[in-house]
Amino acid sequence: MAKVARVVIIMELLGTGLWGAGRETFEADATTYRMFRLGADQRAPGLPVVPGSYLKGLLRTAAYKIAGLLINAGILVGIDPAAQGCWIGSTCGKCVVCRVFGSSGRHQSPLYVSPLYPVRREVLNRLKDALWHELDVDELLSRLDLLAEPNLTYLAHVRIDDRCGKAAEGGLFVIEGVEPTAVFLGEVKLYETFLPGDGLDLVRALRLILLSLAQLNYSFVGRRTRAKISVLKHELPPEAEQDDVCKEVLRDLEWRVQ
Ligand SMILES: [Zn+2]
Repeated sequence: MAKVARVVIIMELLGTGLWGAGRETFEADATTYRMFRLGADQRAPGLPVVPGSYLKGLLRTAAYKIAGLLINAGILVGIDPAAQGCWIGSTCGKCVVCRVFGSSGRHQSPLYVSPLYPVRREVLNRLKDALWHELDVDELLSRLDLLAEPNLTYLAHVRIDDRCGKAAEGGLFVIEGVEPTAVFLGEVKLYETFLPGDGLDLVRALRLILLSLAQLNYSFVGRRTRAKISVLKHELPPEAEQDDVCKEVLRDLEWRVQ
């Protein structure tokens, strides 16, 4: 049977969570991605949900920073993205980051990242038991008893055109602020089937993903937004469960009741 590694991620906002609106651009433009909202009453702001493509972009950005180091240290195998001049706006399709995160023009990336849903802190223990057995992460949307409704604030901004000093066309944008301490939950899945197989096995790909995830504790996850990232639970193939690098990162990131 094809192997899959699954990890449930918790993101706790350390300050106000700021995500932009305005225009959408390629996956990891951290400053312009907007949150989409869900809710029965369309006039109400509803719940803030961080799109999976946004989280994937954050992980990819982190992976670009560490891939070269990990290759040099023998923790990862593959082509260094720096050697290819690969970056988010222009993916090379050859480097180790492209192999794990996908590249433009390719159909299937081995990595799936769910949206991050706002959940109530008090139900995290219950979710730790229930997830995957009684409900899947994407089913959270229909579980109002588990979802949280963090307070939101809106700030309007106008982007000024640098050349003429006037408001840029389409330059009005809104920044949505999510209250500090809000907790979001999402899932990362890595499918062995879609890995290229040239020495980059599931364990090594997972090392890159977990170490990128750990990096998010030291970088912004939105506009000037910091968060504590932890792992609520995971389900890995035995060889990954026994891998020293994966084990150590998972132990560091383990979610604990505050
Ligand atoms: Zn690349």
